[in-house]
Amino acid sequence: MIPSVPRDSHYMQLPREVLIGRNVAPLVGETLVRLGFHGPVLMVTGEKVNAIAGGIVLESLKLANFGTETMIVQNSTTEQVDEVEHRIREMAPDIVVGVGGGKDIDVAKLSSMKAGRGFLSVPTAASHDGIASPLVSMKGLDRPYSYVALAPIAIVADTSIIIKSPYRLIASGCGDVVAKYTAVRDWKLAHRIKNEYYGDYAAELALMSSRVVIKNASSIRAMTDSGVRTLVEALISCGVAMSIAGTSRPCSGAEHLFSHSLAMIAPETALHGEQCGVGTIMCAYLHGANWQLIRDFLQRIGGPTTAKELGVDPESILKALTMAHSIRPERYTILGESGLTREAAEKVATITGVIE
Ligand SMILES: [Zn+2]
Repeated sequence: MIPSVPRDSHYMQLPREVLIGRNVAPLVGETLVRLGFHGPVLMVTGEKVNAIAGGIVLESLKLANFGTETMIVQNSTTEQVDEVEHRIREMAPDIVVGVGGGKDIDVAKLSSMKAGRGFLSVPTAASHDGIASPLVSMKGLDRPYSYVALAPIAIVADTSIIIKSPYRLIASGCGDVVAKYTAVRDWKLAHRIKNEYYGDYAAELALMSSRVVIKNASSIRAMTDSGVRTLVEALISCGVAMSIAGTSRPCSGAEHLFSHSLAMIAPETALHGEQCGVGTIMCAYLHGANWQLIRDFLQRIGGPTTAKELGVDPESILKALTMAHSIRPERYTILGESGLTREAAEKVATITGVIE
């Protein structure tokens, strides 16, 4: 549980071990031993992912003499979380290991927190920063955006598994990282206008992740070992930035609000990171920042930069832009309290080339 701390004090919860690199998945077992775990382990994973990575993790747990059980999750719904939470309470494992993309990790993260257990994250894709963050987003919760749960105790990111995921997921991860370019600007703005807590260190860490992926666009595009590793490190650093800040602020601003509203208007169309990338282009324009830098980066990466490439009609973009401020009213951003007018939305989307 997240403790309530006295006023003016600050609580940070960070992962204790992070392993990134080729063929590190077989090290999950010994990592848990090193961290002092010895009881049974519940592995939470998805069906496809289980065939690719679950077996490797399970083997390593057995080799390290852990009693294990596997739960295959179908989707990231609250019912699924309840089911896993119930099993955790029955089985009382020492720790929960989440193996998979966003959905499996989210279910492992939320159910383990609700049942009062820690969890270890084994991401098999690099599509967004949830793989290492203390945040959870899920269908059926009371809000369309993420909220703070617990940081993983450890992260084991095997790039030889991640590199085999579809390139679209990698490009989407780049969109989620570059989003920090405007998220941090929004956070600073909220600090000035609303006197909201602002942490320089967390902000710089998030910004550095976006700078690093921009700098390494060509090696990420070429899916080289170092390119994929750079992206995974950037995503994990974003998660750590949120852990340090104790809020998603360093990583989620108006571009995320745009993504959340677009996901409501055109569900299951584009990926989270893809929507955030396009949102970042437009929000950078609103901030008077270098929006061309973001667009050029996304083009180099091969991610979507227009409504058409996102697979949505221009009207959905305009609707998402004008309603984004209302998604999370307490989160002050460049959209202000009353949001963009239709005319302003048309202007930003047209100038930045998102719509024609
Ligand atoms: Zn995100």
